[in-house]
Amino acid sequence: MRIAIVGAGLAGLTTAWEIRAGAPEAEIDVFEATDRIGGKLFTVPFASGPTDMGAEAYLAFREDATEFFTTLGLKDALRAPSGLPSALYSQGQLHALPSHTVMGIPASSAGLEGLIDADTAARIDSESDAPGIEWTSGEADVSLGALVRSRYGDQVVDRVVSALQGGVYSSLADDLGVRATVPVLAQEFDRMADAGQKVSLSTAVRAIVDRRAASSENATSGEQYRPQLFSTFAGGYAQLYEELAEQSKARIHIDAFVSGIVRKNSGFSLKGAGEGIYDRVVVTTPAPTTAMLLKDVAAAASAELKKVRLASSVVVGMKFAHDEGLPDHSGILVACDEPDVKVKALTFSSKKWPHIGQRGGALVRASFGRFGDEQITRAEEDELVDRALDDLQAITGFDGRAAGLDEIFVQRWFGGLPVYSPEHLVTVSRVMAELDKVDGVFATGSWAGGVGVPAVIAHARAVGRAVIA
Ligand SMILES: Cc1cc2nc3c(=O)[nH]c(=O)nc-3n(C[C@H](O)[C@H](O)[C@H](O)COP(=O)(O)OP(=O)(O)OC[C@H]3O[C@@H](n4cnc5c(N)ncnc54)[C@H](O)[C@@H]3O)c2cc1C
Repeated sequence: MRIAIVGAGLAGLTTAWEIRAGAPEAEIDVFEATDRIGGKLFTVPFASGPTDMGAEAYLAFREDATEFFTTLGLKDALRAPSGLPSALYSQGQLHALPSHTVMGIPASSAGLEGLIDADTAARIDSESDAPGIEWTSGEADVSLGALVRSRYGDQVVDRVVSALQGGVYSSLADDLGVRATVPVLAQEFDRMADAGQKVSLSTAVRAIVDRRAASSENATSGEQYRPQLFSTFAGGYAQLYEELAEQSKARIHIDAFVSGIVRKNSGFSLKGAGEGIYDRVVVTTPAPTTAMLLKDVAAAASAELKKVRLASSVVVGMKFAHDEGLPDHSGILVACDEPDVKVKALTFSSKKWPHIGQRGGALVRASFGRFGDEQITRAEEDELVDRALDDLQAITGFDGRAAGLDEIFVQRWFGGLPVYSPEHLVTVSRVMAELDKVDGVFATGSWAGGVGVPAVIAHARAVGRAVIA
């Protein structure tokens, strides 16, 4: 069987690996438009050590991902974080990141002192007395920001929820769906509606938080307890994408931009990728490119997929000679209603990861850019570095210029992440239903089953199995 995969990011390489695992004889060609593999996983060789400029961690409670890395022989490369807390910058000062929330949504005002005003606190604490949320189990998604604003007011959204979601999705909570990005909350609402109970935000969050506390207490007493929330790779994500590429034994063609897929004889050929005829094609590019590539072979799927929008961002990686004065935090998220700073998050990699801290000095990643406010992504490199240093100093007092800036790397991620809007899940299910009708054509990627590394892997592996079924 001859199989073509378009895109050598995490989804493309994982699909290739899975196909090889199930079909040792398959001929696999992977076509990658740029001059490197990995896509949004990108480890840059700083003089001080390998440094991730795209994804830098994964959710370690996703045991499927950890098991997969173990299968790849990478278990010993996994590293745990220091456990230092993250903070929230709002109204010109640092606050503890509220705990006992669901993606920043609290069940009560406790722990939000100083972050929200008294009216907002009273509103949160009396939310369950207000008329219930109109919610029908299993129905269409709604805007997360709009929902939380309608129950708790603007401050919780602008200062907490959007700050957290901006770090994961590069989007404001208003542009994201509840089912699409906080499915556990949607499921709790469904459960309440099905049981004929009043649907209340604070009651739902309380139920989820209590369940989590109970399950972590149970887990603490058992052997399975895994304390850390995140993990990463000692040598950066390059360890993962290089291992996937090697073990897949696929022919990987870089600088190979594919501009279309056409039916030829009983198979497919790829425009811009030589004369090969393939029995199966798997498209793993970002949604708009995938829509463009599917146009001639899966027109209905292509038309649906065009609806998915992308959010851009930029990461400025900075290595300083010393870290005196850098707060003892893993990182800082920035509220969206801060007029004087442009950065949306600061990651103190040398504090967050002991293996990076051991290199000495300070490694800081400054992230900018959200869906709808992407001008910063196009700013000149000098302006971005100045902005990163100014914001770092304004937020923490750490004077990066005085600390000695040894290394800098600016990485722009144009269209880096798909926007998981309230319409997203319906769009994806329609795309998949249309693709199911077309023999030999498959698609996967961060738009399909979630943006996080474990979710991308899970979807790509399922597609890989379907390709050879
Ligand atoms: C800044 C940033 C930070 C992130 N941080 C984290 C994190 O810490 N933890 C986490 O779990 N997730 C994180 N993510 C999300 C995660 O990295 C991505 O969802 C995932 O890597 C996407 O993989 P993919 O293969 O779907 O897409 P991509 O990585 O985009 O791969 C698609 C590939 O297709 C290629 N391509 C595009 N068009 C063509 C064409 N016409 N022909 C041939 N090739 C083409 C591209 O060059 C690219 O290599 C982050 C994402 C970003 C942008």
